[in-house]
Amino acid sequence: MNDREAQLRSLPSVDSLLAQTPIQRLIRSHSRDLVIDSIRQTVETARQAIMESRPVGADVHALLPLIEQHLRDKTRPSLMPVINATGVIIHTNLGRAVLSAAAQQAMQAAASAYNNLEFDLDSGKRGSRLAHAGGLLRELTGAEDAVVVNNNASALILILSTLAKGSEVVISRGQLVEIGGGFRIPDIMQESGAQLVEVGTTNRTRIGDFAAALSERTAMLLRVHASNFKQVGFVEQPSLSELAALAQERGLLAVDDLGSGALIDTVPFGLEHEPTIQESIAAGADLVCFSGDKLLGGPQAGIIVGRASAVRRLKRHPLARALRVDKLTYAALMATLEHYRRDEALDCIPVWQMISCPLVEIHERAESWAAAVGGSVIAGESTVGGGSLPGATVSTTLLAIDCEAPDKLTARLRQAQPPVIARIADGRVLLDPRTILPEQDEALLRVLKSSI
Ligand SMILES: *Cc1c(COP(=O)(O)O)cnc(C)c1O
Repeated sequence: MNDREAQLRSLPSVDSLLAQTPIQRLIRSHSRDLVIDSIRQTVETARQAIMESRPVGADVHALLPLIEQHLRDKTRPSLMPVINATGVIIHTNLGRAVLSAAAQQAMQAAASAYNNLEFDLDSGKRGSRLAHAGGLLRELTGAEDAVVVNNNASALILILSTLAKGSEVVISRGQLVEIGGGFRIPDIMQESGAQLVEVGTTNRTRIGDFAAALSERTAMLLRVHASNFKQVGFVEQPSLSELAALAQERGLLAVDDLGSGALIDTVPFGLEHEPTIQESIAAGADLVCFSGDKLLGGPQAGIIVGRASAVRRLKRHPLARALRVDKLTYAALMATLEHYRRDEALDCIPVWQMISCPLVEIHERAESWAAAVGGSVIAGESTVGGGSLPGATVSTTLLAIDCEAPDKLTARLRQAQPPVIARIADGRVLLDPRTILPEQDEALLRVLKSSI
């Protein structure tokens, strides 16, 4: 019998492994089938290693950690918290807005007991879920009424399906945009049964272009905020008030898809001006829609505010039922909106805390990380991201780590527990304190120490 055969014979059987105490313990904390599967896979991997003359430990003690690792990999949740070291504040791939503590608590409260989601406590009768958040949104935006749906894409679909199906919607050629993930304004129009009428040119559209395109079939003038790209140079678009005035004169609706939809001005933080919801309402838009989890800093949602008569029609459309949000979203959204009402958004909403965080504080954090794990502290830029303020950056301080193979280091960081998402520039791995929550510092340093 040669060496290889001896080794193969020494591999324990699944049954003999199952009888071992440490394996019995695994079965108690996982399912038996899962443990058996991990044993089979591990033994098979060891068998192959022997066949390929690679050195391998084949007894229980050598196999047990491999079985445990296999189980850990298999039972690892698909969705898990990560550390966002990219400096992109509203990172679409990393879950966009982090919720405030109050919003988290509100979700917890809504999840852990019954509530009055669709129950009128005064009359004891059925209430409407769509009424929630209405009061807060009216107060904060100056609009007559509001309705909340699943996200801003569905907000647009609801608006177009309800108010422009079979009719024409006029939009500037400069705003026929793709928002991301293949979500294109012309496709949404088609899906909703609205007919697109393009006016103007890619770079210049005037109010006269809109006026000239109106017919008896026109229902709506649509403005879509260029939220993820920027046109500079010889460009012109009619203002929202011009559009609203034209719409009103001709008995049409002026709808503004704001995308991000800020409630507070971004200029004091060294950013460009992101149009606010209040401005769009004041400019006379009949309906304004925006995301809940971009600059608002709340849960995923599509929020529509505007004239009571138009909102009433939206609420009655069957799609409103299909696109409605659940109690957890309402709870988090209302808690987020409360921060604005109490004028504490900058202190309580993570998106705004990150935007407004003073550079000295960020610099100090980067310095303390460098002292703990090495690397150099350099000046850099954070971005808002998430379809807000394209190209706009805020100054930041980065921890830069020089290494032989930066892509290997970022891969190790992604595989760590918790995963750390960093970026590479000029052959260095860069970590931006701005988007790392203060309570994640300890975990970050632990991961860095074991990965660098
Ligand atoms: C982001 C965005 C949307 C889509 O919003 P979601 O909430 O992601 O569905 C629509 N329009 C504009 C202009 C956007 O920026």
